[in-house]
Amino acid sequence: MNKLLSCCIILVMVLAAPPLFASPDEQENQPNIILILSDDAGYDDFGFQGNTVLKTPNIDTLASNGVRFTQGYVTDPTCAPSRAGLMTGRYQQKFGYQEINVPGYMSPNSKYLGDDMGLPTDQRTIADYMKERGYATAAYGKWHLGDADRYHPTKRGFDEFYGFRGGDRSYFSYGANNRLPHHDKRMERGFGKFEEPKEYLTDQLGAEASDFIIRHKDNPFFIYLAFNAPHTPMEATEEDLAQFPQLKGKRKTYAAMLLAMDRAIGNVLDTLKKQGLEDNTIVVFTNDNGGPTDKNASVNWPLAGTKSNHLEGGLRVPFVIKWPAKLPRGVDYNQPVSTMDLLPSFFSAAGGDASKLKSIDGKVLWPYLSGEVKEGPHKALFWKKDVRAAVRQGDWKLIRFADRPAELYNVKEDEGEQNNLADKYPQRVRSMFKEIFAWELTHERPLWMLTQKYEDYDISRMDRYRVPSKEPQDWKWVPRVTNSK
Ligand code: CA
Repeated sequence: MNKLLSCCIILVMVLAAPPLFASPDEQENQPNIILILSDDAGYDDFGFQGNTVLKTPNIDTLASNGVRFTQGYVTDPTCAPSRAGLMTGRYQQKFGYQEINVPGYMSPNSKYLGDDMGLPTDQRTIADYMKERGYATAAYGKWHLGDADRYHPTKRGFDEFYGFRGGDRSYFSYGANNRLPHHDKRMERGFGKFEEPKEYLTDQLGAEASDFIIRHKDNPFFIYLAFNAPHTPMEATEEDLAQFPQLKGKRKTYAAMLLAMDRAIGNVLDTLKKQGLEDNTIVVFTNDNGGPTDKNASVNWPLAGTKSNHLEGGLRVPFVIKWPAKLPRGVDYNQPVSTMDLLPSFFSAAGGDASKLKSIDGKVLWPYLSGEVKEGPHKALFWKKDVRAAVRQGDWKLIRFADRPAELYNVKEDEGEQNNLADKYPQRVRSMFKEIFAWELTHERPLWMLTQKYEDYDISRMDRYRVPSKEPQDWKWVPRVTNSK
């Protein structure tokens, strides 16, 4: 090939490639973005969700200054697949990520040391997209998308990382002795530099995010603040426990852990305010999957089900978004949305052309939240793990089980999913089954499969929480102005 021709080809490639960095003008208006995720929190367990005993004043203020989603969904009722969907804006089944913690693939006790399981490296993350828009990026807290080095956050678009690679760890220091756990539970700064937290971990994560804000206040930044609270182990400080004298046992510890998380989030929000960044910063608060009531005493009232099953209590999560410069304040959005929607929404807010994002299942939410588009962003939402699957279309939800006939619910009229209408509407059952089949044709074969033993556990847990817990005496749902049906 002659030199002139190869120069021309390179020039065309350069012109056709997306800009690596946004222009200075674009940077002027690019919002900062902070995505805050809690871990295994209950649907009911926040003031803005109606709880009057647990204390979450800072998250409540965040909610009252933004939009609350009353039908906000995750892509899976367990930690890692849900994060894979959130992080890629795609149904994770499309790249084979259906399962969580499959022994032999992601387990520190296995001979494989978790080397195989993780977010496949050919998948782009939110952080990759935000880097493309010129953002400084950081991840704090729980990763749980692969223990092996090749899956590390700093290799997946994040400039900075302070957190742990696995799915849970202590909220206190393991100490500096030689009994430190496997590296998936150890706190890590950047890549490969392990150091134990200096204070109660939840507080430290808030402090780390605040520090990043201060260091990057002059340029757009994206922070993924993934608390492990209130996931097990149930550990809280004496001071926080003392705030709940009326509670006992796990529920008391849970309340204290949430209080600490709220304080850490308050720290981040205060820093934004002090730096004058509040107006043009998007802050999202949501949770990765429904509360596992049996493990951490979380409450998903008024929803049935828990973490790891496809009832609403496993899939529907507390979800708020605040962007004072652009979004209405103190309103509810009542159409189904998904955590998959965050990636294209962030990319679009940063000046990216979301219509060019290929293979993304999430939708840009802004025109829906502003009221510009009246119908909801999704014709249907799907979930699947092994044989178990669910689809939501409009007000209807079909759940397919491994061990019993499918069930059909009108979740608008029956959000607790107690009145199975499958016998009454067989035609609807058939058509929704077909929707699931058509969606499954878009999947890759699962990269890892769970054994029947784990499936059985998930199903028995669903059966135990098949009826929503009794309405808590401390619960008071406050409806807000709505800008959708
Ligand atoms: Ca979780």
